[in-house]
Amino acid sequence: MRHINEIVVHCTATRAEWAADQSSAWKAAQVRKWHVQDRGWSDIGYHYLIHRDGSVSPGRPVGKIGAHVKGHNSNSIGISLFGGFGGAADDQFDEHFTEAQAKSLRELIAKLQEQFPTIEKISGHSEYANKACPCFDVREWLAEKPAPISHPDPVEQPPSNPIAALLTALVSLLQGLLNRR
Ligand SMILES: [Zn+2]
Repeated sequence: MRHINEIVVHCTATRAEWAADQSSAWKAAQVRKWHVQDRGWSDIGYHYLIHRDGSVSPGRPVGKIGAHVKGHNSNSIGISLFGGFGGAADDQFDEHFTEAQAKSLRELIAKLQEQFPTIEKISGHSEYANKACPCFDVREWLAEKPAPISHPDPVEQPPSNPIAALLTALVSLLQGLLNRR
């Protein structure tokens, strides 16, 4: 497996309503076609695509180096969100993407960080290129909310102390005996 230490977030720069009547599989196939036929790449450039409804389509296998961020492909995973048409680099996530996409992106990032503990950086394409992509500040957005609720920490209950409970019982028993006299 290649060394992976970064996730780079992108957008497809399509309109919110683009191909709304088509299946997720069709839309993913369309992006692959843009990259393979129109750009002449060997496969789709991204490793994951996140649809408007939050569903995820696999792109290029993560074991393979992607084609999504010049100079940083060899060590990174590329995730692209459908949407972002006409956006600017410093827009807000909510201006271009859905709540379902937000949840899905956080979950996917958490899952990948579990799978690849060497991931130490989550960035946006615009940090490496003079582009609007992905049309929000990834770092700022990630810091906005706590980790996804799909991996909740189990609530730690303080362990009950059986010896303390026994002592308390003994004390009240003795007090009862003393009071009887
Ligand atoms: Zn991009």
